[in-house]
Amino acid sequence: MQAYHTCRNAPTGRIIRKRFDSSLGTCAPAAVAGAISKVAARRVTARGRGPSFKGARTMETVTQVWERGNRQETGSGKARELRARIDDSLDALARAVDDVRASDTFKAYLDVQAKFHRYSWHNSLLIAMQRPEASQVAGYRKWQELGRQVRKGGKGITIFAPCLWKREVADDTIGVKVEQGIFFKAVYVFDIGQTDGPELPSLDVPDVDAAADALLADLRRVADSRGIRVAFGPLSGGVYGLSKGGAVDIDDTRGTGQQAKTLAHELAHEALHKSKESLATMPERSRSIAELEAEAVAYVVCRHFGLDVEVRASRYIALWDGDSKALRASLERIADTARTMIDDVEAPAARKAVA
Ligand SMILES: [Zn+2]
Repeated sequence: MQAYHTCRNAPTGRIIRKRFDSSLGTCAPAAVAGAISKVAARRVTARGRGPSFKGARTMETVTQVWERGNRQETGSGKARELRARIDDSLDALARAVDDVRASDTFKAYLDVQAKFHRYSWHNSLLIAMQRPEASQVAGYRKWQELGRQVRKGGKGITIFAPCLWKREVADDTIGVKVEQGIFFKAVYVFDIGQTDGPELPSLDVPDVDAAADALLADLRRVADSRGIRVAFGPLSGGVYGLSKGGAVDIDDTRGTGQQAKTLAHELAHEALHKSKESLATMPERSRSIAELEAEAVAYVVCRHFGLDVEVRASRYIALWDGDSKALRASLERIADTARTMIDDVEAPAARKAVA
């Protein structure tokens, strides 16, 4: 199988195309790959996976769920082979996500996040208006509890806190009755950028650092063929990409491997979620599932073409509250969308080979 393999060691970061059997999961000279039968190749894959594939969780693997379900023979052996590879990828992703969630770093991160108050939409709006770059916000004392100090002269962000009032009033029939109600008073909160102190536990979601110019160009072509306009340019606020329904924005200040991963993610949103309400306004649970599905599709597509995005994808999904169970619940949607995207990327290459 002809596939694009990104070589991390390429001195210029430029993509190197090699003929390799990607079912081996690693770069192999064509002669070696060609000499190994499909079955043997899969055995090599299983053996070569090493410790990260040990200790499979007790829950069913993605492949088992698929086999237990209504597995249908879908046409050619090539289609079945692709489906098996997609299932392998989703198994690997499910294990990686659960490993992130089980890590001490992730637990420490969640512990700290739980200490931050969730503000009402009204207060969130007030915070965004007064300090658009705010990322983590808390009151003066809360920052002290978290080991950080608000810098002298820092201007507080005004929000409104609900306060209960209660009073006893004389009543002709029952003597004394209690009246109660609620009022709002202005309080001040501060963004983490206005504080000093030790770093809070965080979960780094690193950029994909390999180059993937060819895959990026191919995904652009897929977007064109689907009538989706792709605009490349710098995006603010740490945004990597946006899916806008018929149009996609990609932050081009990142490397081409990251851009390819982002474009695959946004194309998955376009395929799966554009008929729903805007991603920004959908309920939190639906948004979490949408992000898990888009990222899993991007992972499967990138992995198929030899671009390793596992660290980023697994952490991204964990941060959106995803796990192996949620991945299995969306298995068919992810697999179908990934298969179509892979087919679309490979279509012209296949045509060329016939001609
Ligand atoms: Zn997304």
